[in-house]
Amino acid sequence: MAFAWRYASRVTETAPTTALPRRIAHLDMDAFYASCELLRYPQLKGLPVVIGGGRRKEDDLLGKLQTAYPEGEWTEETFAERLDRIPVDFFPRIEGYTGRGVITTATYAARQFGIGSAMGLMKAAKLCPQAILLPVDFERYRYFSRTFKSIITDIAPVMQDRGVDEVYIDFTHVPGGQREGGRVLARLIQKSIFDATGLTCSVGVAPNKLIAKMASEFNKPKGISIVHEADLQTHIWPLACRKINGVGPKADEKLKGFGIHTIGDLAAREQHWLIENFGKSYGAWLHEASWGRDDRPVETESEPVSMSRETTFEHDLQAVRDREELGAVFTRLCEQVAADLQRKGYEGKTIGIKLRYDNFQAVTRDQSLSEYTADAKRIRQVAGQCLKRVDLSRRIRLLGVRVGSLVKAGTAPDSVSQPMKAEEPGHEWQTQLLFTDD
Ligand SMILES: [Mg+2]
Repeated sequence: MAFAWRYASRVTETAPTTALPRRIAHLDMDAFYASCELLRYPQLKGLPVVIGGGRRKEDDLLGKLQTAYPEGEWTEETFAERLDRIPVDFFPRIEGYTGRGVITTATYAARQFGIGSAMGLMKAAKLCPQAILLPVDFERYRYFSRTFKSIITDIAPVMQDRGVDEVYIDFTHVPGGQREGGRVLARLIQKSIFDATGLTCSVGVAPNKLIAKMASEFNKPKGISIVHEADLQTHIWPLACRKINGVGPKADEKLKGFGIHTIGDLAAREQHWLIENFGKSYGAWLHEASWGRDDRPVETESEPVSMSRETTFEHDLQAVRDREELGAVFTRLCEQVAADLQRKGYEGKTIGIKLRYDNFQAVTRDQSLSEYTADAKRIRQVAGQCLKRVDLSRRIRLLGVRVGSLVKAGTAPDSVSQPMKAEEPGHEWQTQLLFTDD
């Protein structure tokens, strides 16, 4: 059930039968959001810049410029063409920031002060008050996202979206895709993206998605890493288990408790031991992953039919006793789904919830609206009604919120769009991130 939920939008490409070795690339844009901003504000290069805290208010900047240059050098018409000439001093700093805004991403210069993604802006203001604050502009990032992805599919058509700034690409049957293990094609794609956009990326090419995902990080930024099956012991086994996409902080903690720190440590354990301690499917998967085995195909993605967020609680919750906590989590999930929809530019008209009880039994309920929405409050309201239709006397292990029947925002009549909601810092529950930027 959960599987169908999450992957409902995927269409599997059937691979032609052939003797060619699989060459799978993972391409990850380098500091994507920040790089998109630095393209238009090159004067901020090398400075601590944080992006987050709400939508663009370009008018503020324009107003400042018009005041400083009353002779009219800056008009709305020239503003867009002259962004690179705005003096650095004119940009707002995070010093004295008050509010609940959260950082979406930060430049490397800002990260040196200890600032990171998902940190509250108030905390960041204490760490580096001189950092420049730019509002998020998802529309711009989506534009560059579409651009770099269409450059890739022009060259290598079997591509799978992994969010706004990363993709998997099947090099296996692409002309030249096998040359130097994929390096030649990776270089061509890197150069084509850079020539068209000015953006850089890093690519890992390996026998499968699992290894390719790790490899793209090896030489960031602007890196290309080629990993062959024979490189498993030298390149993969020394890495921390956490580098495996699918080993989260909790699993990592447990592995460390057994003295398993590296992927090599993991590979040294017997499969039956892993299954005993980590469950049938996860244990078996850990074993396969540590041996670099992964035969998942690169799946081309059609338009998503739904977006969802769900969270598993640290301790099972009860509706009455933990009413407040449950309510807060529920609201947050709705806000996250709304933010996902807005970031990807979708609206939906079917709102649903998913619950899993302490005995692992799952129930879902949904309700269709007459209008399309991406509004957190509306989603919360309807999801709340769905919640009233399930048994809340039992202990709850997992809660999820989904919005389905999606259309591109603004294409449906009566569509309602709301500005991005600021996210609260310091969440203590595990949230499954479907789209990330790093
Ligand atoms: Mg990235």
